[in-house]
Amino acid sequence: MITYYDAHCHYSNLGKIYNDFFIAAVSVDYRSSLKTLALKTKNILKGMGMHPWYINKLEVKKILKTVQKADFIGEVGLDFKYSKVNREIQKEIFNYFINISKEMDKTLNIHAYAAWKEAFRLLLRNDVKRAILHWYNGPLELLKDIEGAGYFITINPSFTYKEKHRKVLEKASLEIILTESDGGYVYNNRLLEPDDIKLVIDEICKTKGINKVELLERIEKNLN
Ligand SMILES: [Zn+2]
Repeated sequence: MITYYDAHCHYSNLGKIYNDFFIAAVSVDYRSSLKTLALKTKNILKGMGMHPWYINKLEVKKILKTVQKADFIGEVGLDFKYSKVNREIQKEIFNYFINISKEMDKTLNIHAYAAWKEAFRLLLRNDVKRAILHWYNGPLELLKDIEGAGYFITINPSFTYKEKHRKVLEKASLEIILTESDGGYVYNNRLLEPDDIKLVIDEICKTKGINKVELLERIEKNLN
């Protein structure tokens, strides 16, 4: 059986079993962190965190309790376009989770829409070792630096119809690529799901000129 890798999925919103997938299940607030923590599904890693759209200072300490039981930390980060939260507060919370990730030695699963450079700067400044920049559509020139730092980006189904995202795939080295669905999230009136990754895999193979087995092995390696 083929295993596909979904490095960023809001699995607790979906409530369905996806047999051929290994899933990194992210959470966005305290409530979803509890839901993720309660999942009994096999083949998932559980992430707990506070999304930059849902920052609530009163919940930080409560989420921290769930983070202790998590496999990784996420979804956390910055969003300088869609978040209504003041940028300084976003940075304060992101820094907080960065420090926790270092203390607990857990990977960060990061949202950094319209804030890629700033998020990357904070990671470097804090000497973070393991980070996944989810649905990366930031500056192409930053890709080399991301690779140099040993971080990863995820490729999302959107690159099949968004030119900017396609450019990221063309430019990014296979060494830093992971696949994701952002499943459980509704984008362009469509519910995203892990199954979308099968199409992503075919497209990456075409773009990079490699076969499916090689690509899936590469992604597995990147995830470990
Ligand atoms: Zn997400």
